[in-house]
Amino acid sequence: KLILSFETSCDETSIAVIENGDTILSNIVATQIDSHQRFGGVVPEVASRHHIEQITHCLNEALETAKVDYNDLSAVAVTYGPGLVGSLLIGVTAAKAVAFAHDLPLVPINHMAGHIYAARFVDQFKYPQMALLVSGGHTEIVYIESEYDFKVLGETRDDAAGEAYDKIGRVLGVNYPAGKTIDEWAHEGHDTFNFPRAMEKDDNYDFSFSGLKSSFINTVHNAEQREEKLDTKDLAASFQQSVIDVLASKTERALADYPVKQLVLAGGVAANQGLRDRIEKDLNQKFSNVQLLMAPLKLCGDNAAMIGAAGQVAFDHKKRTDMSLNAVPGLSF
Ligand code: ATP
Ligand code: MG
Ligand code: FE
Repeated sequence: KLILSFETSCDETSIAVIENGDTILSNIVATQIDSHQRFGGVVPEVASRHHIEQITHCLNEALETAKVDYNDLSAVAVTYGPGLVGSLLIGVTAAKAVAFAHDLPLVPINHMAGHIYAARFVDQFKYPQMALLVSGGHTEIVYIESEYDFKVLGETRDDAAGEAYDKIGRVLGVNYPAGKTIDEWAHEGHDTFNFPRAMEKDDNYDFSFSGLKSSFINTVHNAEQREEKLDTKDLAASFQQSVIDVLASKTERALADYPVKQLVLAGGVAANQGLRDRIEKDLNQKFSNVQLLMAPLKLCGDNAAMIGAAGQVAFDHKKRTDMSLNAVPGLSF
């Protein structure tokens, strides 16, 4: 059972071939970071153009690396949202063309469901299951009572965690995307600033990161005005500790209220070493009966392998679409 999967929701053009939903035969990822870095973020028009230039190369490479032919495939899976409309459309159009030309079933995939399935390459999924989804555009706690049945318990009311990392990174002069560098600096500093932990004790599963971001930016600007030099490593450590504290405490709250067999940690920010260590420690100490499935580091960011893993399950659940499939930029679960 082979799935050919397409992911073009943001600034990565990615195509993969996945066998039986859990084995990667190929996972080609063409990133555009260099082109967006000088703008400090993803420029949608630039992203679309890159996808157009890359998509056929990625497709050929994905099939060649996997050593398979179109005749070997069972289905085509594609991210149709959420994401940038121009970017999504390139993947959707390419996937439709392949499905039509080779008479293959076309399976529509939600990008965020895809992020969860990055953890499928670690172990089999068991239900009920919880997911902490932290990425550039989303921060969500998702309850999955049974296979492919997603319910969002809580989400960010303003900035996503990754977005906050990228914005404070900019203030410190770190290139986009800033998460990895801030994470490294955080490990060399200490939480001396004690930034706010918004909504940490509130009786819900929601998040807010814009207050933390403002507090951080004000602290840096005020120091600049006084011509005072702040310790960059301590700033990074303080910011990261605040993010991790709220992510961990809301996840614990959800696990206490909704008993589950597994916790999935996924999305770009799931690559954060501080977060991985903290969630692992919390589960060991307080929820030792919950299995932790952390998306492999290489599959935390956007990639088509995770879309193929989700695609196999969606295909088994008879999810299909036809040539009328359109991109849905604001798609939710
Ligand atoms: P979404 O999935 O919500 O549509 P996206 O696809 O743009 O958004 P991802 O590719 O999943 O987001 O994740 C990218 C984000 O992850 C960026 O904001 C980046 O700074 C962040 N990130 C990457 N590595 C780390 C890290 N080690 N620590 C914190 N953040 C990180
Ligand atoms: Mg990206
Ligand atoms: Fe993503």
